Amino acid sequence: MEIFDPAELWNKEQIESVQLARLKNALARARNCAFYRERLDQAGIGPDSLRSPDDLRRIPFTTKQDLRAQYPSGLLCVPPSEIVRMHCSSGTTGAPVAVCHTQNDVNVWADLMARCLYMAGVRREDVFQNMSGYGLFTGGLGIHFGAERLGCMTIPAGAGNTRRQIKLIRDFRTTVVHILPSYALILGEYLRSNNENPRDLPLRIAIVGAEPYTEEFRGRVEDLFGIKIYNSYGLSEMNGPGVGFECAERNGLHIWEDAYIAEVVEPETGRPVPVGEVGELVMTSLCREGMPILRYRTRDLTRFLPGECACGRAHRRVDRILGRTDDMFIIKGVNVYPMQIEEVLMAFPEVGQNYLILLENDGVSDMMRVQVEVRDEYFVEDMRILQNLQKAIARRLRAEILLTPRVELVESNSLPRAEGKAVRVRDSRDNK
Ligand code: ADP
Ligand code: ZN
Repeated sequence: MEIFDPAELWNKEQIESVQLARLKNALARARNCAFYRERLDQAGIGPDSLRSPDDLRRIPFTTKQDLRAQYPSGLLCVPPSEIVRMHCSSGTTGAPVAVCHTQNDVNVWADLMARCLYMAGVRREDVFQNMSGYGLFTGGLGIHFGAERLGCMTIPAGAGNTRRQIKLIRDFRTTVVHILPSYALILGEYLRSNNENPRDLPLRIAIVGAEPYTEEFRGRVEDLFGIKIYNSYGLSEMNGPGVGFECAERNGLHIWEDAYIAEVVEPETGRPVPVGEVGELVMTSLCREGMPILRYRTRDLTRFLPGECACGRAHRRVDRILGRTDDMFIIKGVNVYPMQIEEVLMAFPEVGQNYLILLENDGVSDMMRVQVEVRDEYFVEDMRILQNLQKAIARRLRAEILLTPRVELVESNSLPRAEGKAVRVRDSRDNK
């Protein structure tokens, strides 16, 4: 196996001993800010309290609210002059969170990112086009520096401007792209509506992440472009992309355990769940100097995959992110995740690329409507065919989520498109 960094081949014991040493350093650094100093003192955790990696559990959690309350620089653990860059989360779920990096932090991040790309088969000979928004969003510079670090010619195309994206791909023979799931579809639709075959582009790999998508969705986009897609997971609080990534096996995402400690806990109690069971991912940064973050409640739902990966890397794998705890909505007492709906919809070949879940209240009860785009070739005149499709989708949704939503079939390209993270649910109930 070809590797980018020797740490990829560490065994479990090596990983754990490095984790313990680095965790001690991270704790010592964290004490440089009042927030963590007080937290750790209250929990009775001093510089020598950690004997084994399991002692990590004695450290209190850090929540998104904590980070918001410390905005902009309450968590700074180095003198401000040491900071060379700051990033913010996209703010998908509320006020943004700022993270500040030292030069060493951005170097470590670029190395981790390069390691991910290499693992997915990207090489320095590749031309890498980054179609994610630059600016505060970490998918821009984060991925960019990783691709450069690997030695790829890296095109900072940014988000949007589909015509230019395609021109760049053609002119510079782009072989690898980084793209958000929703934008991959916009690109494909654009080509098709211009009677061009997406498979004629020189692309071979796409790095797709930043928001959840299903295996069905991946299959469709791979098929459309004739490429391989690798799932990329990250969050601004843990730098950004480069935290979890798929290897050639594409069976779960390896978390780089020399740089992070991952836990999966029960959201209500914070207790660890057994391997294989779904819970909330909790992450600790081990190497960060500017703003170390301890036991961060990501609100992302996933599970540790049991057993070892066939690729030989001992860094543990998590399953693709199923959604965020705050993506879940409750309707008529049932807990529903948007990805459950996507999975059902994408299994119908007639269904196009986009859908929207509408939650409404007519003054009496809650209602759920699902608007589904139907592919042009299936959007026929014959009403009966469409009605049957509508019923079939409603039935399958009922089997999955135990209530029957109203399914509305709409023409392809008629629902709103996002160039950034997609909006899947529109909740207009006032009692939510
Ligand atoms: P925000 O929380 O405002 O969207 P970020 O830009 O930092 O801020 O995004 C991080 C979040 O994006 C993660 O916590 C997760 O919910 C989501 N995410 C990132 N990568 C993936 C992925 N590969 N699959 C599913 N969700 C992802
Ligand atoms: Zn692997």
